Amino acid sequence: MTIPMYDPAALYRAQKAEFDAAVLRVLESGRVDWGPEVPEFEAEFGAWLGAAYVVGVGSGSAALRAALRALGIGPGDEVITVANTDLGGSGAISMAGATIRWVDIDPVSRCIDPRAAEAAIGPRTRAILPVDMFGHPADMPALRSLAAEHGLALIQDSCLSPGAVVDGRTIGTLADVTCFSFSAGKHLGAFGSGGACATEDAALADRIRKLSSDGQDVAHHYTLPRPLALRHMTDGENARLHEIQAAILRVKLPRLSDSIALRRQQARQYRDLLSDLPIDLPGEKPGCVHAWRNFAVECDDRAALSAHLAAQGIGSNALYSPPMHLQPAYAHLGGKPGDLPVTERSCNRILNLPIGPHLPADAVETVARAVRTHFV
Ligand SMILES: *Cc1c(COP(=O)(O)O)cnc(C)c1O
Repeated sequence: MTIPMYDPAALYRAQKAEFDAAVLRVLESGRVDWGPEVPEFEAEFGAWLGAAYVVGVGSGSAALRAALRALGIGPGDEVITVANTDLGGSGAISMAGATIRWVDIDPVSRCIDPRAAEAAIGPRTRAILPVDMFGHPADMPALRSLAAEHGLALIQDSCLSPGAVVDGRTIGTLADVTCFSFSAGKHLGAFGSGGACATEDAALADRIRKLSSDGQDVAHHYTLPRPLALRHMTDGENARLHEIQAAILRVKLPRLSDSIALRRQQARQYRDLLSDLPIDLPGEKPGCVHAWRNFAVECDDRAALSAHLAAQGIGSNALYSPPMHLQPAYAHLGGKPGDLPVTERSCNRILNLPIGPHLPADAVETVARAVRTHFV
């Protein structure tokens, strides 16, 4: 592919000397575990978000798992979420032992429809887990009122949306816990896995940290010489952010705002260049500023468009389809076509075009020209 969806090597070359220095700094220090990079990154990302507490974890999925468990969600509880995404959110719910309740989406934002969420609230509902799809923020004002009114927890899956804004507020402090992924293709991509939870609640941050550190009291590990005995304060798993990944993220973070601004410019360009074609372009709801992790168009024959682009060396993908309720993993829950009509229509028609800071300068024009030749 001459215009790929992702290109970690291009992003590496763009800041090679800084990445090399950061990785060597960790290797030469010998502090490959429980070192200073993770806490430094947590402080820097917290400052970028304007969030009080950030806990680095091993992945976006681990962030969602830790958030649910830290909020005490488990067997007998129901969590309302969406199906037009990957396994992260639904998997966290089922692995906590809770029940997944998928509801339909808004066709423009492609995020949870607050009215559908409200209609699904029952006596066992404990939380709502909205996903900021493709970088468009969920309707957090409506969801916050709903959560407050019904005494529910709110866990925001912002793996695709750092920098997104809703009603003048940047995401990161709008839910009980906001979850981020640093997998390689995300806005802030490590060279491997990574993730984080942001929260305004110190006790919640402490529980998330222990749950993803084998229940260990982390302060203990920063104290040298270490005491002889281990102390596992809670149950948990080893799902920590790695020192080398944290060092890499610290190189990338200072460029995050510029890369989001670039994505917005690329999205504007696509919208200008493709507006007259028979495809549905992604929109922005009033009061929302998109973070454009994906430029997700919808069209009737995406396979033909995707093949046409591939023949010209242009990448595309159909993330995320099929929706979760129709995946083999959840066949036992009995989901069937027609359960979530707006979700299914979107998932069946979605095609993501290349976007992001890895693209060469004229890539958006080249992709747009290739899309046009498919239709005319
Ligand atoms: C990437 C992603 C996840 C999972 O993050 P990982 O770091 O890959 O575990 C969860 N939810 C959404 C919406 C994502 O895009």
